[in-house]
Amino acid sequence: RAKNAGRNRYRFFEPEMTVATQVRMALEVSLRPALARGEFELHYQPRIDLARMAPVGMEALIRWNHPERGRVPPQQFIGIAEETGLIVPIGRWVLQEACARTRALIDEFGRKMVVSVNVSARQLGNAHFVDEVRAVLLETGLAPDCLELELTESALIEDIERTAAMLKDLKRLGVALAVDDFGTGYSSLAYLRRFPIDVLKLDRSFLLQEDGNVTTSDFVKAFVEMAHALNMAVVAEGVETEEMLELLRAARCDQAQGYLLAKPMPLDTLRIVGWTASPSAHSTPG
Ligand code: C2E
Ligand code: MG
Ligand code: MG
Ligand code: MG
Repeated sequence: RAKNAGRNRYRFFEPEMTVATQVRMALEVSLRPALARGEFELHYQPRIDLARMAPVGMEALIRWNHPERGRVPPQQFIGIAEETGLIVPIGRWVLQEACARTRALIDEFGRKMVVSVNVSARQLGNAHFVDEVRAVLLETGLAPDCLELELTESALIEDIERTAAMLKDLKRLGVALAVDDFGTGYSSLAYLRRFPIDVLKLDRSFLLQEDGNVTTSDFVKAFVEMAHALNMAVVAEGVETEEMLELLRAARCDQAQGYLLAKPMPLDTLRIVGWTASPSAHSTPG
């Protein structure tokens, strides 16, 4: 142990190391015990049904409260967690926490609500992933149709046959499957047809033209129609302006998420602010 620590310390001060590398290594070292130390927290961003303008669920987003650095954004540590494999236990915690809190919320308000959980490629590659999801649903008592898993396009291009089989198993559990950040990778609707995908989450950049202006309503409308023909619902991410919201409504996009509507927040804030309390928002399950 002492030897190990010594070696790590030595590596820290290698002169040729760039500042970025040093920061990254320091983050990696403090990421290992972070879960056991209870440094993670989930915030939740409401998702709105655009036809009724009412909340239907929320996306769970991880937050890391670092003892010295303060809050470290996911963009800075999810990659490290993926490379080191730490994403597997961290992801398991996220799933457990999100499902337990959502179950409690549903009991409190007596209405259906869907929680979306981000799943990284590395988690999906884990042979026990389906069993884990099944176990968490049983343990927390959350109805399977109240859980949605958000997968990235890159996770779907890795081992197509294996991934397709796994997604089928997940569908058999009754959970919903979404493709996150659609439009940032290389996959197309035609490609995604081979997977049992329920929801496409359009990345913010999909709705912007090269000059930074909002894209045309005809384009979005045609895309939404195509997705609907393939039995996929469309959710727009990163909605920041009224203009974008109007465009999405005109294009019959199903749902939206974004700072204009609500920022990610702790679940207790979401409860108090009333994001869960719209009676018209939730269809009865089953
Ligand atoms: P994502 O899954 O695409 O999540 C959406 C991100 O956009 C979130 O950033 C959210 O706070 C942000 N956002 C929401 N509304 C707006 C808006 O109107 N404008 C803009 N510019 N941004 C908006 P966040 O929370 O920093 O998370 C970043 C990414 O980190 C996520 O992107 C996701 O890929 C990853 N991530 C977060 N939590 C988890 C997790 O529990 N597990 C895994 N594997 N990845 C996670
Ligand atoms: Mg997401
Ligand atoms: Mg996204
Ligand atoms: Mg994103």
